[in-house]
Amino acid sequence: MKDPSWESRYPGRTTIDIAGLTTWSLFEPYADSAWMRRGADYERLKDRLTGELLGQVFRFCPQLEGRIDHTELATPLSFNHFLGRERGDFMSLAHTPQRFALRDLGAHTHVPGLLLTGQDVASAGVSGAIMGGVVAASAALERDALEDLATA
Ligand SMILES: Cc1cc2nc3c(=O)[nH]c(=O)nc-3n(C[C@H](O)[C@H](O)[C@H](O)COP(=O)(O)OP(=O)(O)OC[C@H]3O[C@@H](n4cnc5c(N)ncnc54)[C@H](O)[C@@H]3O)c2cc1C
Repeated sequence: MKDPSWESRYPGRTTIDIAGLTTWSLFEPYADSAWMRRGADYERLKDRLTGELLGQVFRFCPQLEGRIDHTELATPLSFNHFLGRERGDFMSLAHTPQRFALRDLGAHTHVPGLLLTGQDVASAGVSGAIMGGVVAASAALERDALEDLATA
């Protein structure tokens, strides 16, 4: 639905992303296994989680039942493998009061001329990363870059 050329390239077909919350402890037992060779137990866990997620999809979109050709499940171990993470996270530091109390998580560093940007200087996700860019631009330009956006 986001890609205007999709319908002409793949008429009558579509894709859907489903995201769910989980816990690292469920995947920790497989942390030392290799991608695509994590074993039958792990595959069973993935099958179970896939079924649970699809169950939620069918609850809200019953018209999709029986019409899915292919599914793939990424787990925290996928993020470890593909993003180089250690505990399966992909959305920044935990959003706790302690994290927002860390005054050092900003654009400025102790290294002259080195500025930080991205989600960890603002907040999680794509919109957090965008705001991280605004914070870094403000630091580099020494003015409030958010005002530029407001008038753009
Ligand atoms: C599968 C998946 C789905 C997601 N879905 C959503 C969603 O629906 N909504 C949402 O808000 N967020 C989502 N996110 C999270 C979102 O992608 C991140 O929050 C966001 O990309 C963080 O932006 P960033 O600029 O801080 O870091 P990144 O996008 O991770 O950018 C960091 C960049 O630095 C580069 N880099 C790393 N190390 C080095 C190095 N040593 N030298 C040079 N370059 C380096 C990396 O290659 C990368 O390009 C999703 C993430 C994943 C993995």
